[in-house]
Amino acid sequence: MSSLKMSSEYERIVIGGGAAGALVALHYLSSCSAAGHEPRIAVVEPRASLAQGAAYSTDREEHRLNVPAGRMSAFADRPHDFVDYLIANPDSALADLHGHDLDHAYAPRRAYGAYLLARLREQPLFSSLQHVRDEAVALARSDDGFVVTLLDGTSLRAAQVVLAIGNAPRALPIDAGELPVVESWDYPQLDRMSPDARITVIGSGLSMVDSLMTRLRAGHRGPITVLSRHGLLPLPHAAEHLPAPLPSAAENLPSTVLGLWRTLRRRALQGIAQGEPWQWTVERLRPYGQQLWQSLSAPEQARFLRHAVRYWDIHRHRIAPEIAAELQAMMQAGQLHVLAGRLLPSTGTDAATLRFRARDGAEQNLPTDVVINATGVETRFERPSSPLLASLLANGLAVPGPHGLGILTDGLGRALDAQGAPLAGLQVLGSSRIGTLWETIAMPELRVQARDCGQIEAAARTGCG
Ligand SMILES: Cc1cc2nc3c(=O)[nH]c(=O)nc-3n(C[C@H](O)[C@H](O)[C@H](O)COP(=O)(O)OP(=O)(O)OC[C@H]3O[C@@H](n4cnc5c(N)ncnc54)[C@H](O)[C@@H]3O)c2cc1C
Repeated sequence: MSSLKMSSEYERIVIGGGAAGALVALHYLSSCSAAGHEPRIAVVEPRASLAQGAAYSTDREEHRLNVPAGRMSAFADRPHDFVDYLIANPDSALADLHGHDLDHAYAPRRAYGAYLLARLREQPLFSSLQHVRDEAVALARSDDGFVVTLLDGTSLRAAQVVLAIGNAPRALPIDAGELPVVESWDYPQLDRMSPDARITVIGSGLSMVDSLMTRLRAGHRGPITVLSRHGLLPLPHAAEHLPAPLPSAAENLPSTVLGLWRTLRRRALQGIAQGEPWQWTVERLRPYGQQLWQSLSAPEQARFLRHAVRYWDIHRHRIAPEIAAELQAMMQAGQLHVLAGRLLPSTGTDAATLRFRARDGAEQNLPTDVVINATGVETRFERPSSPLLASLLANGLAVPGPHGLGILTDGLGRALDAQGAPLAGLQVLGSSRIGTLWETIAMPELRVQARDCGQIEAAARTGCG
């Protein structure tokens, strides 16, 4: 693989070389190899290494996958592949685990990044892949395809472009005044904090959990307050794993949010009465997430986003039981407090205080030395978080998806332009499809999208080949 910047023409350019972009490249190389086709593909990715992205670029042992290793294969047709990799390449954090235990282990995310990269490197045509180490800042149409402009001013041309830009961090909802703000994915900065600092974490999802684990491993002694609108923490996975999902789990479900909620609750209670953990009810529905989202009318989807999303998230995006136990211990020891409320703008009178409005309407002060922004991933395409997204909107190459979430795509993952027409040759995958698909961020969906988008024949059907 070369990392030279080339002002040349490609058959395909993949923008974003995280897990999704790397898998697209892998399938493309594999498909070219099988067809005896000479690959002309570049992946534009500013990070030094491909296949890491926001999720897997951490080298810290405490940052674990949120899904057991047995369900994290990068290939839908080889479900045991990640575990096979772990057996052949043991990670120090899992050194004492074998066979069945590895299937159920929550592996460090660094091991997953290493796995994806290893599988990409194994491709016989890997040396043909160009890794262009830069940020794409603009995309425009040309007579015969697209022109990608890089931050350094270079233009790259391609017949097909794949947008695999993944997860951008969300900005803090308000200005924190003079208080230092550390991003929850900035692990070196998190590491450098004073152990006695009074920390306020804004956001109570998975990014918050990561940052707390990092501070815990760094020997943090100071108080930590977590503030989010609902004050709800991710729930743990069940200790026992679901034997096999029932194929009928999504049949005859109501198509209203309230109806769905009641049905799930009833199923969970029935399961509990039979000695099953409630988590299995959610697990059984997991493969049908896209189908369920698309079965809701637009007003019902809006209702879900307004009233139910946070409750759904804590049940769906769960954490390893051992991590949940560590959070519990921090709360019991009085070091960790979780509050529900909305952050208020700084008044500028006291630099070491954050203000928030609690759910009962009362304004309260939070003595704080450092703020951690753990508000998660920016999915609202209406507020483009990068020059590339702004350029896509400005050039009419993309429009926001339903409810302003992600990019509007058709069933094949092609971007739809302002007139609703599919743009042959502009393929989108991953979290940018959230408004259309909802379940599109995690590996079970990504690996299928990347395979379909990466293979030459499949791409030809979408106008990409
Ligand atoms: C902290 C975290 C933990 C997670 N844990 C799990 C888990 O345990 N299991 C699971 O299934 N899923 C998990 N996920 C979900 C995750 O979204 C996927 O598993 C996967 O990593 C997403 O890959 P991606 O390539 O779509 O996005 P990303 O990993 O975000 O990669 C996108 C890449 O695009 C690059 N990029 C963005 N814009 C540009 C541009 N303009 N020009 C060039 N490059 C650009 C970025 O530098 C980045 O490397 C996690 C996500 C996060 C954020």
